[in-house]
Amino acid sequence: MSHVLAAVAWPYANGPRHIGHVSGFGVPSDVFSRYMRMAGHDVLMVSGTDEHGTPIQVQADADGVTPRQLADRYNRVIVEDLHGLGLSYDLFTRTTTRNHYAIVQELFEGLHRNGYIVARTTLGAISPSTGRTLPDRYIEGTCPICGYDGARGDQCDNCGNQLDPEQLVNPRSRINGETPQFVETEHFFLDLPAFAEAIGSWLDHRENWRPNVLKFSRNLLDDLQPRAITRDLEWGVPIPLDGWRDRADKRIYVWFDAVIGYLSASIEWARRTGDPEAWRQWWSADAQGKDALGYYFMGKDNIVFHSVIWPALLLGYSGEGDKAGAAGELGRLNLPTEVVSSEYLTMEGKKFSSSRRVVIYVRDFLERYDADALRYFIAAAGPESNDTDFTWAEFVRRNNDELVAGWGNLVNRSVSMAAKNFGEIPAAGELTEEDRAVLAVAKAGFATVGELIGKHRQKAAIGEAMRVVAEANKYLSEQAPWKLKSDEDKPRQATVLHVALQVVSDANTLLTPFLPHSAQKVFELLGGEGVHAPMPRIEEVEDLDGGPSYPILTGDYTTGARWESVPLVAGTPLAAPKPVFRKLDPSVVDEELARLGGDEA
Ligand SMILES: [Zn+2]
Repeated sequence: MSHVLAAVAWPYANGPRHIGHVSGFGVPSDVFSRYMRMAGHDVLMVSGTDEHGTPIQVQADADGVTPRQLADRYNRVIVEDLHGLGLSYDLFTRTTTRNHYAIVQELFEGLHRNGYIVARTTLGAISPSTGRTLPDRYIEGTCPICGYDGARGDQCDNCGNQLDPEQLVNPRSRINGETPQFVETEHFFLDLPAFAEAIGSWLDHRENWRPNVLKFSRNLLDDLQPRAITRDLEWGVPIPLDGWRDRADKRIYVWFDAVIGYLSASIEWARRTGDPEAWRQWWSADAQGKDALGYYFMGKDNIVFHSVIWPALLLGYSGEGDKAGAAGELGRLNLPTEVVSSEYLTMEGKKFSSSRRVVIYVRDFLERYDADALRYFIAAAGPESNDTDFTWAEFVRRNNDELVAGWGNLVNRSVSMAAKNFGEIPAAGELTEEDRAVLAVAKAGFATVGELIGKHRQKAAIGEAMRVVAEANKYLSEQAPWKLKSDEDKPRQATVLHVALQVVSDANTLLTPFLPHSAQKVFELLGGEGVHAPMPRIEEVEDLDGGPSYPILTGDYTTGARWESVPLVAGTPLAAPKPVFRKLDPSVVDEELARLGGDEA
């Protein structure tokens, strides 16, 4: 058994999240974590909202609120959405906690001490009319890479590249339109080339990564440049060095602080459990962390941060780059075991876009549909290894044909027949070859489905689980227990229904990581009591170090089902079942399409 860290990408808190955001890594990381817990591993699943950086500052300015107020608003929305999806975080926190600030500064100091953070003179913008520093977000111009005219001084929202203000073509102040004057100013840079060798040999020993992720990561090493990790900005983590700590106009760059969230959230989780050192079991590269595995889940636009930059920070803090050095007080830290990157989800053939209303927010989705219906779609048809299109027609089809007519129907007819004819789980008599065969198919599912989830092949995994469902439906149709009504046939009817219910129970366990809400219901329909699929809860907590309070997602996930076949007990009372899934009227397709914006907007 291992200590398994599930490190899930941090949603940016500048708005509500849409289903594209949760399809790539939110739901898949939960499926993985739930399975690993059921298989007996010690899982620590952490994430939080990413709340610093220019876009939040810009939007707060536009809304007339402080960045903190804006982040508070969307942190809460996102926490509630992830809760609604049943994502089983041990801790979902945020980057504005004092704990996070302290850990970010500890890593910055450690890297600086070891020589991996270097000051450089660069060009900074000032306003010629006032002589004051012009923060990056107040400068816009034409992107030198893609030609987009609304690029900002720190990044182009059109092509996604990070920029420096002086790279912009025709730069201008967004405050008064004047051309900024560029003067020399100091910033800190991460010496990425000093890690090229260490990261290269680490990548050489990666196994099981998706080939495109590994190839992309290797290619990044060919052209590593020192990378700026501070900006001219007031909103962010202060720079923890003498002469810098109190400067209001310089902050640590948001990407540097956000990746450190995996570590700071693990430490916060440990502090909240009352064992402040407990996080080391998932992170320490020394003896006690030998059985520790770290899986990072993200969209493909974030690979570079997880396969190059985050390893560089961990290596540098541990004193393991070209310049060597000594580990800081957190000790030597583990590098990722695997970077699990997903592809993009599109919506009815178009890129998700809030401004063009090509979008459905998680909240709106969950108001109209069940969380497991979305979770099923994501697992069966999500952007696991190819860009994938979400269409309402396909969503309704999969819900009705597969979830309702396949799985729901199997549950419903086997439980209702047993309830009606016996009022309990009937005892099985002697088993036929057919009985044994279908039971064996279900049992074999534990190895195949589990192995596929462990390798992040969830599409194939849920396909195997649904194959068990299909075999069971076929078995029921062939055995036709509804015909076995005479006194003479009754014992055979009992056996067939017992076998069917056992396969339902096994299939339910196989589907539990994917469909936890309905798995709990099916478990109870079979007479089970207690928690089968544990759920997260929202808790309002105090900041551990005196900052403002905030909501977290957490939970106790130790009580759920194990990844194994549990023999049903004959005589367990059964009641007539209520349907577990909802059939959707095909008219919802047109209703939903009418809600989407067109190209003209
Ligand atoms: Zn661009």
